[in-house]
Parts: sequence; structure tokens; C-alpha cells
Amino acid sequence: MKEFELINHYFKGRGITRRDVAIGIGDDCAVVEIPDNCQLAVTTDTLVEGVHFFPDIPPRALGHRVLAVNLSDLAAMGAEPTWVSIGLTLPNVDMAWLEQFTEGMHEIAEYYNVQLIGGDTTQGPLTITICAKGIIPKNKALTRSGANVGDWIYLTGPVGDAALAIESRKRGIALSAEQAKRVTEKLHYPKPHVAAGQVLRGLATACIDVSDGLLADLQHILNHSTVGADIDVATVPISDDLKSIEDQALIDMLSLSYGDDYQLLFTVSDSNRSAVEARLSQYGVEAKCIGQITNNIGNIELFKHGEKYVLPEQIGYEHFN
Ligand code: ADP
Ligand code: MG
Repeated sequence: MKEFELINHYFKGRGITRRDVAIGIGDDCAVVEIPDNCQLAVTTDTLVEGVHFFPDIPPRALGHRVLAVNLSDLAAMGAEPTWVSIGLTLPNVDMAWLEQFTEGMHEIAEYYNVQLIGGDTTQGPLTITICAKGIIPKNKALTRSGANVGDWIYLTGPVGDAALAIESRKRGIALSAEQAKRVTEKLHYPKPHVAAGQVLRGLATACIDVSDGLLADLQHILNHSTVGADIDVATVPISDDLKSIEDQALIDMLSLSYGDDYQLLFTVSDSNRSAVEARLSQYGVEAKCIGQITNNIGNIELFKHGEKYVLPEQIGYEHFN
């Protein structure tokens, strides 16, 4: 199968068609319409086999995941996702693999009303780069830089399940078959908080998606906002599957120092607190308060049941570390 045949078969004419796409796949560029009084949000993420996913990940899950992680970045800015393009490097043309991969990708694109508008296809070690675009009403983007002393710190949902899926394989943590299935599903099919991000526009003071670890990503908000934070570790939401692990230090590490669940971490002023909780709950998101912004610039203080708490291992996941 030649490159253009592959593009026509698996990418062009599949998925949804948006009215704001003037020119889609097939020409030298795509051309899209941006509504008046809106700004364009653009994000790019690359997933490399063996680095960002296990080589045996089901291709449908991979197709879902590559898009999900990019839509999560748009969500964290309060953007409405609209268009994506894909840079796909394949070791060979495996039609069964491509069928599954593109199915996973088109499924999530359709769910969030996002159109694939272009890409590039090359041969080499399996690498997927997605560039996702979205629109935001002018000057309404949520950023990392608006947190104020006294703001409350919230998470959109439980953290640590995707980490449990990864580490149960690496360290052989004992899980029942159902538990392993549930946490693997969380790792393979993360749900970006697209609606929550838009709800938070104008309500949250700062926002980030948790992709590198709760504490590492909170640190970005602190650095950008020139503030500090107190976190009550006991209030960080975790699933029953993670709770069932015996080793408390491991639970803390998986929930605080890993990303991959793609929850939103955001701050909100005391006066907007109940409005945020109510609006998010209309979208089925039960946000949990895990701490408060302080004037202890750049520092995160951890507490557990009122006592100061020190993390057992290195915070966050950094590449080339
Ligand atoms: P060019 O050489 O002008 O960059 P290409 O031959 O690489 O164009 O691609 C032809 C068309 O197909 C372009 O519109 C490009 O955006 C699109 N395209 C290439 N690969 C993909 C892909 N994997 N998914 C979707 N569109 C793709
Ligand atoms: Mg090209």
C-alpha cells in the first residue's frame, strides 16, 4: 500500500466533518475558520513506543490515548477542541494494526466533535505526534499563572490508577484480574476533562492537567503564579483499587508522583468555590478539594491528618532524568 493510498483509506473521509473546515486532508495545508472573538489554542504531544507506551498496547487504545492526551492539554486551557493533525511514523504498513489504531482515534475524535484535518506519514520506529487545536473566547484562556493566596486547590477526580497499571507490570504488584482490567482501562482509555475545562473558564484562577504527576504539575502552578501550597494528602481522591494496595508509601507515590490519569488540577477563590462544585457536578464531575494556596512561594507542604508529611520517593516523572 502506497503512502497516499494509506492516507485515503485510513484517514481521509473517516470521522466527522465540521462546517468550519474549509479545506481538509488532501491539499498542502488545511484551512479552517476561526469564529470572531475567539483565539486559537494549539498543543503538540509525541508518544514514542517503549517510552510513553508498552509495545504490546492494543492499537485501538493507542489511537485513543494519543488524541486524549492532547485534548487534555486543550481542556486545561479551557479550550473547545476542534481540529487535529497527526504525524505518524510507522515501522511498516500493518493493515490490521492501522485499522484498530485509526478506529480508536476516530472514535474519540467523533465523541469530542474534533476533525482530523491533516498529517504526515513516514517510515521509522513507531512514533505518533498529534497537534490538536481548539478555540477559546478571546482572553478567556485558563493558565497556570493566576492562583492567589487563599485559593482552594481542586482535582477533577481520582489519581494513581494509570500509575498502578504501569507499576503493577513493572514491580509485579498483586492485583485481581478485575482490578488489573479496570486500571489498565484507565491507562489505555483516559478521558480528557473537555467539558470541565470549559466550565472552569472564568471561575478557576489557574489550571493544569496532571500528566507528569500531581505534585510536579502543582509545582508548575506555584512557579507561574508565585505562590505556595498546602496539600492534605489524606484528601487526595484515589480509587478503591488503589486503596486495596497494602503499601501506604506506594499508594502515595502512585497518586502524587505519577501522571497518566489526566485529571485537571485547578485553583478557585473562596467566593467561587460552591459555584464551581455545583457547575462541575452538572457535568458528572465530583471535584475534590485537596488543599490551599499559601504565600510560601514555590513550596508545597504536605500534611496527613494534621501532621506534616514527607514523601517517600522522588517527585514526578521527568524525561532525561
Ligand atoms: P505534503 O508532501 O504536501 O506535505 P503529503 O503528501 O505529506 O503532503 O500529504 C498529503 C495530504 O495528506 C496532506 O493534506 C496531509 O495533511 C495529509 N496527510 C498525510 N498523512 C496523513 C495522516 N496520517 N493522517 C491524515 N492526513 C494525512
Ligand atoms: Mg509530507
